[in-house]
Amino acid sequence: MTDSPVFIFDLGKVLVDFDYSIAARKIAARSSKAPEDLHAFLGSSPLLVAYESGRLTRKEFYEAVASAIGFNGTLAEFSHFFADIFSEMPGAIALHTELRRSGFKTYIFSNTNDLAIEHVRRNFPFFAGFDGYIFSYEVGALKPQPEIYAAMEKLTGRRGGDLVYLDDRVENIAAGAARGWRAILHESPETTRAALMASGLVTP
Ligand SMILES: [Mg+2]
Repeated sequence: MTDSPVFIFDLGKVLVDFDYSIAARKIAARSSKAPEDLHAFLGSSPLLVAYESGRLTRKEFYEAVASAIGFNGTLAEFSHFFADIFSEMPGAIALHTELRRSGFKTYIFSNTNDLAIEHVRRNFPFFAGFDGYIFSYEVGALKPQPEIYAAMEKLTGRRGGDLVYLDDRVENIAAGAARGWRAILHESPETTRAALMASGLVTP
């Protein structure tokens, strides 16, 4: 099936759900902040952007967050609290399993960090079943920056319409579509499946 397309899966809110309020509750209990202040801080702080674009190591991220919020636990404690926020999304995982059975190659394409990936790899067996992975913290660029899309094209050896791309974020999908990728905004497993059936990529 060398001429068939390859499938690119976003991770967060496609294959795994995540909830930073879980981490916020546990980390806040060991800090000088309230959980509601930490929720926004953890999920959207410039420190997280720096960590996920590879500009901070895990230890540097921990030290910067700990000093900003008065966290009094160890790196190991912080790591556990920070990463234990994920749960599997069975619909997209089932779709991925079907695509594998049909012989398609599949890849993961994620804005993420090494704590999250370590946790997901350890806890969710589906994660091992892909042909390759592009992570923002390894590439040094975040979606929708062009460098990370170019890294995926290099990894797969494919370009344009040979890549079928599922992601829940409009700006990421737009950047893929601009390169000619067959980009599908993932709103639910049902809408994505319908879009793939409409284009003849999967059969009922
Ligand atoms: Mg996502």
